[in-house]
Amino acid sequence: MRLPELIDPLLCASRGRHWQGKLSLSRMSRLADMIVNLEDEVDVDLRFHQAGRTPIVTGFVRANIKVQCQRCLGPVNVEVDQAVSLGLVTSLEEGDLLPESYEPLLLEQERIRLADIVEDELILAIPPIPRHEHCEVCDIQQEEVKRPNPFEVLTNLKAKT
Ligand SMILES: [Zn+2]
Repeated sequence: MRLPELIDPLLCASRGRHWQGKLSLSRMSRLADMIVNLEDEVDVDLRFHQAGRTPIVTGFVRANIKVQCQRCLGPVNVEVDQAVSLGLVTSLEEGDLLPESYEPLLLEQERIRLADIVEDELILAIPPIPRHEHCEVCDIQQEEVKRPNPFEVLTNLKAKT
């Protein structure tokens, strides 16, 4: 299914729209500097519906993202399998009234980019400081950090004399 660029989320919720498809990672403008594999896609499955009188969005976003390791600058794989559970609100007060199982999505205009919802979820899934857990390059760099600091050596020498 071709996913729309702009949607009216409240209308989608009242009509029970179900958007399923793929979005290019290159559409994630806020993450563009961070993601290495911009040519890849994210799987999107978002159902807009109502829980009682509350318009909600549930589903998931899945992607295999490569971001830059903050230690060795090599690519780190981040498997994103993020469950989505959003309550659509038009004011902060409405957000406070949402059941706890929904994160508020504050709508500031009638139409929003579907990719923005997806990008918000990816941002939540990517660690703030991505690093390899076990990486040869990283480990070597860590050892370098552990090398004695020349000033400490100097102090030791001074202590001996
Ligand atoms: Zn690394």
